[in-house]
Amino acid sequence: MEAYSIHVFEANCTFCRRCQLGCSNAYTREFNQNTANIRIEVSGLTCSITFSDDCRKCGICVDHCFYGALQKVAKEAA
Ligand code: SF4
Ligand code: SF4
Repeated sequence: MEAYSIHVFEANCTFCRRCQLGCSNAYTREFNQNTANIRIEVSGLTCSITFSDDCRKCGICVDHCFYGALQKVAKEAA
């Protein structure tokens, strides 16, 4: 079961990619933005933040974001 709903605030994103490194390290034991389940697609000074179908909504990426671009909201226990 997914633990959180993940909300994104793209205007706050600095493109630092800490979220991607946290996700890839958690699930593949390597720091590789290309294997992360969160995608940061930069276009000029803006970006698009999306999640792959494999995202577990675990919230680890949120814990690695220092800039308020990600927020996790716990889902109510069933
Ligand atoms: S969402 Fe947060 S951690 Fe990820 S690239 Fe943007 S600012 Fe960095
Ligand atoms: S919620 Fe978990 S699985 Fe999904 S992108 Fe973030 S760290 Fe990766």
